[in-house]
Amino acid sequence: MPRTYKTDAIVLGSHKLGEADRVVSLLTAERGKVPTVVKGVRKVKSRFGGRLEPFSRIQAQLYEGRNLHTLTGADTIETNAVIRDRPEALKAGLAVIDMFSRAIPELEHRPRTYNLLASYLREAAASATGGAAAHTFRAPALGAQLKLLLLAGYLPHLASCAVCGREEPLHRFSAATGGALCPDCPGEAFNVSPETVSLMRVLLEQPLSKATRMEAGNVTVHETWLCIRELCRFYLGCDLKLEP
Ligand SMILES: [Zn+2]
Repeated sequence: MPRTYKTDAIVLGSHKLGEADRVVSLLTAERGKVPTVVKGVRKVKSRFGGRLEPFSRIQAQLYEGRNLHTLTGADTIETNAVIRDRPEALKAGLAVIDMFSRAIPELEHRPRTYNLLASYLREAAASATGGAAAHTFRAPALGAQLKLLLLAGYLPHLASCAVCGREEPLHRFSAATGGALCPDCPGEAFNVSPETVSLMRVLLEQPLSKATRMEAGNVTVHETWLCIRELCRFYLGCDLKLEP
C-alpha cells in the first residue's frame, strides 16, 4: 500500500501543534475525517497561503503516518472565501463545520458525508455571492445538520407523535423518545411550536438548494437548533456550541 495519497478535502479548522507545526482537520472524500499535520508554521503561509482556511475545498496530497497524516501538497478547488466575508454566512457555516468536526469519528470512509458538506458549501457560497438576505443563511445550515444526523442513522420521528402516533398537535420534542410528542404522552420533553416540527420535516425532505428560499421565523429556527443539539447530545455524545 502506498503511503502517499491524493484526495479532495474540505478544511474544517486548525490549531497549533507545539512551537513549529499546525494540525489541520480535513474532511476528505477518500478517508473521512483526517487529522493532518502541517510541518513548519512559517512554511504554512508561504506554501499553502489561504488554502487551509475553514471552508476551503482543496485537492490534498497526504502522507499516511501512524497517528497523524502529513500534508505535502494542496491545490485549491474552491476557496469559498465569500462565506468567510459575509458575517451571517460565516456564523451559519461555522456552526455546520462545528457539528461535522464533533459528530464524525476520525478515519471512517463516508463519501455521502463529504458530499453533503460540499453541497452545503456550494449553496452557502452561491447565496453569499448573490447577496441573499441575512436570515436566509440559517435554514440551509440547519438542513445540513439534520441531514448529517440522518446519515449517521438518527432520523427523528416527526410525522406523528413518536409514542402514540397521533398526528397533531405536536408541541413537544424529546430526543430520548425519538422525536416529536403530543401533549398527552409521557416522556421528558421540551416545548416546541408545531412550526418547528414542520420545518425539520421539510428540511429533511428537501434538497439544500430549496432551504435557501425557505421562510422561517427566528423562534422556529432557534427551536430547530435546540432539537438538533439535543439529538447530537443523546445519540452522538457531542455538545454543539455554535447556533447557525
Ligand atoms: Zn402521543
